[in-house]
Amino acid sequence: MEKSEKIFVAGHRGLVGSALVRTLERDGFDHLVTRARSQLDLGSEAAVDLFFAQEKPAIVIFAAAKVGGIKANNDQPVEFLLDNIQIQNNVIRAAHEAGVRKLLFLGSSCIYPKHAPQPIPESALLTGPLEPTNEAYAIAKIAGIKLCQAYAREYGAHFISAMPTNLYGPNDNFDLLSSHVLPALLRKAHDAKTSGARELMVWGSGKPRREFLHVDDLAAACLFLLERYDSPEIINVGCGEDVSIRELAELICDVVGFKGELAWDTTKPDGTPRKLLDVSKVHDLGWRHTIALRDGIARTYEWFLKNPPRDSKPE
Ligand code: GDP
Repeated sequence: MEKSEKIFVAGHRGLVGSALVRTLERDGFDHLVTRARSQLDLGSEAAVDLFFAQEKPAIVIFAAAKVGGIKANNDQPVEFLLDNIQIQNNVIRAAHEAGVRKLLFLGSSCIYPKHAPQPIPESALLTGPLEPTNEAYAIAKIAGIKLCQAYAREYGAHFISAMPTNLYGPNDNFDLLSSHVLPALLRKAHDAKTSGARELMVWGSGKPRREFLHVDDLAAACLFLLERYDSPEIINVGCGEDVSIRELAELICDVVGFKGELAWDTTKPDGTPRKLLDVSKVHDLGWRHTIALRDGIARTYEWFLKNPPRDSKPE
């Protein structure tokens, strides 16, 4: 990839997009194109077509998505399905028509069947029923993967798809009702510590296992794949290790310095029992994560302290 190539990062304000912009700028890519939602509605086919016709980016990284944790996914299947399919269809089609040289579509580990073998190899895609709590999002992402593969097969497009594991880091969503587990527990531990609470409420049984990757590692992987990977076959990106939700909660409490007890709200769903990606393919290509979970949580907590969520109560 030339440093001067025009790169469009779709979704640059989100967790993933903002990490991509940070990493690309740090690495000297000086022709980034971004658009705020108020400037470009990715859900509008006409607006997306016009944008691509005018800007003609060489590279597209598709990091725009309606995302959310287990509750949001479960509560709003229509929005997760419709919005995601709409924006990805618009961007992928317009990218092809505008002659984009390479496109990286970001999926998710939830595209894999609920009872996929662990760690989950890329070949597990479409081999069994999905986890019901995030089925709508998963179906949308699978449609995006298939569209990229179809453009590759039918038109020879260089549209690749990477499947990141659960991500966390700066600019994550810390809203307790729609966030993923790691930012939710970071915030809950911080709030419990500052309010002097004795207990921190964790959802579910604590038994599910999840793998977590710092988003700066994902951004580095994206650049790596754009340079070195050119197959329409999906590729997993993770750290290759998982922890139970209980272990995660204990680690977060330790980093934050909350010394109280964990309590368990078993009325909330556990979701899929385990989600650990088989990352041997990306490892074989030569990429590995660099940020250990404890360090990543500590860095994210530092960021959180400097950027408290707008809805949080003043201390
Ligand atoms: P998932 O990976 O799609 O299941 O999404 P989440 O990151 O939202 O949830 C992962 C696991 O963490 C589930 O078993 C949740 O029940 C559990 N969990 C525990 N406490 C929380 C919390 O405060 N918020 C969220 N979102 N999940 C929690």
